[in-house]
Amino acid sequence: MSGGAFLAGRTALVTGSTSGIGRGIAQALARAGANVMLHGLGDADVVAADCAGLAAETGRRVEWDAADLTKAGEVERLIAVTAERIGPVDILVNNAGIQYVSPVEDFPTEKWNAIRSLMLDASFHAIRLTVAGMKQRGWGRIINLASVHGLVASPYKSAYVAAKHAQVGLTKSVALELAETGITCNAICPGYVRTPLVEGQIADQARVHGLPRERVIREVILAAQPTKRFVEVEEVAALALFLCGDAARSITGAAIPIDGGWTSR
Ligand code: NAD
Repeated sequence: MSGGAFLAGRTALVTGSTSGIGRGIAQALARAGANVMLHGLGDADVVAADCAGLAAETGRRVEWDAADLTKAGEVERLIAVTAERIGPVDILVNNAGIQYVSPVEDFPTEKWNAIRSLMLDASFHAIRLTVAGMKQRGWGRIINLASVHGLVASPYKSAYVAAKHAQVGLTKSVALELAETGITCNAICPGYVRTPLVEGQIADQARVHGLPRERVIREVILAAQPTKRFVEVEEVAALALFLCGDAARSITGAAIPIDGGWTSR
């Protein structure tokens, strides 16, 4: 693992970094010296305070934009705004994501389209719009936050599983195209990570099943995760940071599970 401010002078864009995994990755990149564009939905006052706190702690430029990435043209605007405010993107983390659970025959088309456009189309557009600059500078890191659901499936998550598998396919193809350019492209595939999203699911499931929180975590949420504990945001952020270092320059086109053994079953 590279130490110190090894990302000094680099510009990172982390989509969906107002919460959860993206927020943890953005913090880790800023602490390693990168100027960071936070992105995502959220209360403007809360996010502004988060930006100011991270900038004060790290001495780096930290900005924020709330582009709705399900909307046409918003990825283009986000990339342009990032370049204007802190510089052209060297490190692109495609992390923004949503979930929707339904039997396939009832799956609402608008939910299918939203999941696909946020997690697959936006990743494609962001890569499409940043690769030329990375090539010119001879260095780049593209990290797609996929999921174990980019490698294996679960029922009732057809849109999410399809989009995440496609994101892994995109990762491999882009990695091959860029293999000789100094740019790597990888997918991180977490199992259940303790984020605000998952905390909400624990509370909901506890209510539905009438079970205490600890049993819901072990028997419902983490049923498929052999370690029976959540992956923590900091662990995913540490992996992303490692992928940005020189020691990871030969890792490209990989879909790396961080899943407590889930995909070994
Ligand atoms: P989260 O809900 O905490 O954060 C999601 C982020 O995406 C937020 O910043 C939100 O504002 C942003 N976002 C949502 N809709 C958006 C839209 N229309 N336009 C722009 N931004 C939007 O989620 P998380 O748990 O941190 O998940 C982050 C990524 O990791 C997702 O791609 C998710 O699929 C993936 N992942 C999460 C887990 C987990 O257990 N939490 C496991 C595997 C993969």
